[in-house]
Amino acid sequence: MTSSAEEKIHALVAELKQHNYRYYVLDDPDVPDAEYDRLMQELTALEGQFPQFRLTHSPTQTVGGLVSEAFRPVEHLQAMYSINDGFDAQSALDFDRRIKDRLKLDKNQPLSYFCEPKLDGLAVNILFEQGWMVRAATRGDGKVGEDISQNVRQLIGDQARLEGDNIPDRIELRGEVFMRRPRLEELNRQRHKDHLKTFANPRNAAAGGLRQIDPKISAQRPLELYIYGVGACEPDSLPESHTELFEQIKRWNMPVTDLAQSVQCIEGCLAYYEQILKDREQIDFDMDGVVYKLDNRSFQQQLGTTAKAPRWVLAHKFPAQEELTTVEQIDVQVGRTGAITPVARLKPVHVGGVIVSNATLHNKDEIERLDVRAGDTVVVRRAGDVIPNIVKVLLDRRPDGTRPFNFPTQCPICGSHIAYSEGGVIARCSGGLVCDAQRKGMIRHFVSRKAMDIDGLGSKLVNQLVEEKIINTVADIYRLSAEDLLSMERMADKSVKNLLAAIDNSRETTFARFLYALGIPLVGETTAASLADDFNSLETLENAKLEQLTEIDDIGPLVAQSVVDFFGETENLQVINEMVKNLGIHWPVPEKIAHDRSSFFHGKIVVITGTFTGMTRSELKTLLERAGAKVTGSVSKKTDFVVAGASPGSKVGKADMLGIDLLDEAQLREHL
Ligand code: NAD
Repeated sequence: MTSSAEEKIHALVAELKQHNYRYYVLDDPDVPDAEYDRLMQELTALEGQFPQFRLTHSPTQTVGGLVSEAFRPVEHLQAMYSINDGFDAQSALDFDRRIKDRLKLDKNQPLSYFCEPKLDGLAVNILFEQGWMVRAATRGDGKVGEDISQNVRQLIGDQARLEGDNIPDRIELRGEVFMRRPRLEELNRQRHKDHLKTFANPRNAAAGGLRQIDPKISAQRPLELYIYGVGACEPDSLPESHTELFEQIKRWNMPVTDLAQSVQCIEGCLAYYEQILKDREQIDFDMDGVVYKLDNRSFQQQLGTTAKAPRWVLAHKFPAQEELTTVEQIDVQVGRTGAITPVARLKPVHVGGVIVSNATLHNKDEIERLDVRAGDTVVVRRAGDVIPNIVKVLLDRRPDGTRPFNFPTQCPICGSHIAYSEGGVIARCSGGLVCDAQRKGMIRHFVSRKAMDIDGLGSKLVNQLVEEKIINTVADIYRLSAEDLLSMERMADKSVKNLLAAIDNSRETTFARFLYALGIPLVGETTAASLADDFNSLETLENAKLEQLTEIDDIGPLVAQSVVDFFGETENLQVINEMVKNLGIHWPVPEKIAHDRSSFFHGKIVVITGTFTGMTRSELKTLLERAGAKVTGSVSKKTDFVVAGASPGSKVGKADMLGIDLLDEAQLREHL
């Protein structure tokens, strides 16, 4: 047992060091943090049990980073440390208790803490002398880091100098360089276009972006910095608490997060954790947890640090957003527009707070890029509402005998051939309504909450009704009888009665909902609302020309073409006509408004573009109609005025070309 424990310790140390190298030097980790943390916990436990086998340079005893030879080494004035982790509320309570034990305080005495988000980026140490930045370094091994002064200078620009007073002769400010998620998405889109490798997550992109030998490359990366603490300070004129220190850093005009907060006791920390965890998806940068710092600096000094981390700080980690699992099988799914999406069926794994058993593989290109196969061990990521996806395949764990996935050439549901669009990226079943998968998807969308909102017509029932050929098009929903429904599984009198009532209720709807429910490709809820706003009737929309559609704000050429194509299909028009003419689907038509004939706008043709203070475009439209104007969607020679708010669209250019008068918001209000 003991010798196998010794071997295990050696193996874990070697494995963790390899992971450290990939993470800190190459900025390209192989395994997710959760796996790294598990190995670390395993090693800590073994070393606790067999202290005689603990190695001096064990990763549990040293700061994980390394110094690459590509950079000039820089010795920190004061060492930079790691932070002890906690993965549950109990570890926070234990942390508070340990502090009180060490400080010999009463266990009921509340201690003040300062809570901050734990940004998932790269630590930097910036030295200021007489208020001026003189150099910046990565954390490295904690004592010596890598010189990245030029890169940080590019990043902070004007902030390379402390402002205000109380500026010490020399001070090290510590912070985290990170990338916001939307910036990463833009960067990855561009890299994909340029045939460059994309980044799996913002942390890798930030670390890789900052640790560039050529600062020009670093300058192109959309990075940001938040300062969260201080290293050496000469003379030590720092305030008595971390809260005041944070305020001081702010007064020096250094960037800090506005999510930090002082709390009165460890329970306050736990409430902070819950709050940030709840808001995590709305915050546009990645955090791997929150950090609790004992507020009182003199207590901090009394507690000191272990070889690796200060005793007065705890990182309370969030549930991991990336995990390891295996791919059991790869399938393709057919959506309501016929789009074929490959899906990886996974061995269920806890990630991002839920159990994940499927991950999207997006398209054929993505499968080829990842070279993912059934049997592979993969890193799966689930952040927020985003559909889980696979970010990496661990090739060294690939079992023998796997085969590349063959993308089908025929729809697995109806056998129709698969056609490619949008530069060969999107695969679509060409079966249209012949394909049951498309039919089912279409009907599920039509009845969904934001569409016709028919409660009680769930996926299982839709599947049965389509398979039994009772429903072929969405119009058939309004022809369903009690007998049809009673013959379906698990349908009894009461559920049938409720469902028929829900179907009946849905007959009265709004134009926008109906348009959305039709499932026109590329027309989501907002676009449907814009279309309903600009076209008063279904008939005018059905006959709309491409140019009329593109002149509506928010509608681009692809969407416009999709609308024209949709209404160009006779089958679609038949189904729609049946619903509105024979099956009683209706919505309120804007009433004709009596207006003042002497008004400035009486009889004028007006087009609206841009945004206005205190009213939506549709509210403005009603106001103008009340004043006697006819509001149209597109600028033509017949237009009298174009009313242009903030950020107007292309209509202004067109008005200019045709010599049509523009009214800005102030002029508009005057005339109204
Ligand atoms: P750590 O990242 O857990 O904590 C210390 C670091 O937290 C600091 O250096 C600083 O950069 C950062 N930080 C962010 N916000 C902060 C704040 N408000 N206040 C103070 N510090 C803040 O410690 P570590 O030793 O650098 O790294 C361990 C982490 O890195 C673990 O989560 C581990 O999973 C991950 N890691 C992963 C791999 C891998 O292969 N996937 C390899 C090595 C390390």
